Amino acid sequence: MAGRFAPSPSGDLHVGNLRTALLAWLFARSSGRRFVLRVEDLDRVAAGAEQSQLDDLRALGIDWDGPVLRQSECGGRHDLAIGQLVEQGRTFECFCTRREILEAPSAPHLPPGAYPGTCRDLTEAERAVRRAERPPALRLRADVTEWTVHDVLHGDFTGAVDDLVLRRGDGVVAYNLAVVVDDAAQDVDQVVRGDDLLTSAPRQAHLASLLGLPQPEYAHVPLALNADGRRLAKRDGAVTRIDLETLGVDVLAMILDSLHLPGPDATAALRAFDPSALPRSAWIVIPPTRGAPPAGR
Ligand code: GLU
Repeated sequence: MAGRFAPSPSGDLHVGNLRTALLAWLFARSSGRRFVLRVEDLDRVAAGAEQSQLDDLRALGIDWDGPVLRQSECGGRHDLAIGQLVEQGRTFECFCTRREILEAPSAPHLPPGAYPGTCRDLTEAERAVRRAERPPALRLRADVTEWTVHDVLHGDFTGAVDDLVLRRGDGVVAYNLAVVVDDAAQDVDQVVRGDDLLTSAPRQAHLASLLGLPQPEYAHVPLALNADGRRLAKRDGAVTRIDLETLGVDVLAMILDSLHLPGPDATAALRAFDPSALPRSAWIVIPPTRGAPPAGR
């Protein structure tokens, strides 16, 4: 049994990401679970980002069990899972560009935004022609249109499942497949992450069921937003740990305050942690400027 934090090493974490990491740690530790880290480095990787992310977590008092898993080292496991789905006849090659998908008329029986099924029923001869044009992506041949997951904060949540991509045309394993396979391999049965991923959970849980893997329990926690109500981003100002510390801000205290948890350290917050008392709305962050105290509400 484990909880996890699974950052993409695409740049520095901001205080909203750090708050999610702390929450994942609090959920795991308060329920007697192990806590593991996974670096999701299949896609964009910025030099030095992994190291600075791990430094940030340590600085907040977040500890983890066992070595950090890098997703790029798990290719064999991803291939096996994809092979299992291919063998079950649950996949098809897709030659559509993003643009073709956007421009295709949407099918009335599918959820909005779902893959319209263009390449689902190509003949082998048609596929051979298309393969000469571009390398195909591999998609799941979904036989359900929705799936229900249980989320500690959102209750039972039913969301769309479509013919999601398992492996991209450039050969990279898709996030949805990798996350499911690696969570199971790391014994993760509790997924705590930002609520922007709530709508991905049904797809992922469905994939887990097809692969014979257990369904994790989810907790999708509120995101940090800027003053305009948009997702917090680095261009909003001093929002990374280093930038905030340079301005004299105690980052852990800022996060704990937003969660109505006591300090002075993560261990004290853990003793007081009660998931049912968590704030349910987004955290609005107004980054401090030199000389002015931080504002978060
Ligand atoms: N790597 C993803 C991200 O940083 C998170 C994936 C997950 O928690 O499932 O957005």
